Amino acid sequence: MNDPDGRRELVRVCRMLYERGLTVSAGGNMSLRLNDGTFLITPSGKNKGLLTEKEIVRIDKDGTPFGGGTPSIERFLHLALYDSNPSVNAVVHCHPLYCTALAVREEKVDCSLTPEGIILLGEVPMVEYHTPGSAELVEAVRERHSHMAMTMARHGALTQGRDLIEAYNRMEELEFQAHLQILTRGAEGLPGAEISKIRGGAP
Ligand SMILES: [Zn+2]
Repeated sequence: MNDPDGRRELVRVCRMLYERGLTVSAGGNMSLRLNDGTFLITPSGKNKGLLTEKEIVRIDKDGTPFGGGTPSIERFLHLALYDSNPSVNAVVHCHPLYCTALAVREEKVDCSLTPEGIILLGEVPMVEYHTPGSAELVEAVRERHSHMAMTMARHGALTQGRDLIEAYNRMEELEFQAHLQILTRGAEGLPGAEISKIRGGAP
């Protein structure tokens, strides 16, 4: 994606995340890989429902911004995932209420309750707690890079995708699964044989 289209798309998806209640106030950060190998990322400390295209910050692969703007402090976490996953072009990190509730309890989101969770998310690991913005958090996320969704203990959730809509859909589904898990507390996941069948060829 090029710079102007990328800015438009990122602002649009940030607004969808905000309006859906998946991110609140200035929380979370979202990014996109551009065709030229640079990245667009949300600025630090801004409400995601009110972002403008001009406020989006372009950074290089080392996290250095071009021109003005202060990129999110979590940019290294995004860059670690892009570096590890060449097919990933978008990363969404936010603090959805039910994912975060489970993450505060240090419980993983179990995505085997319904077929949709298995198809879209599969196994969702939980990263142990590290200070936001720290190198330790970046390394802990990098270790789980092959998972397209993960939660972070006492913090929030993170998804990746080939494009922003795929990363958005995974976040929306992850929050649905976390909410479902809380509402159906104690329910068993689908049996292993059924999970294999679903993974083998979804209708
Ligand atoms: Zn966060």
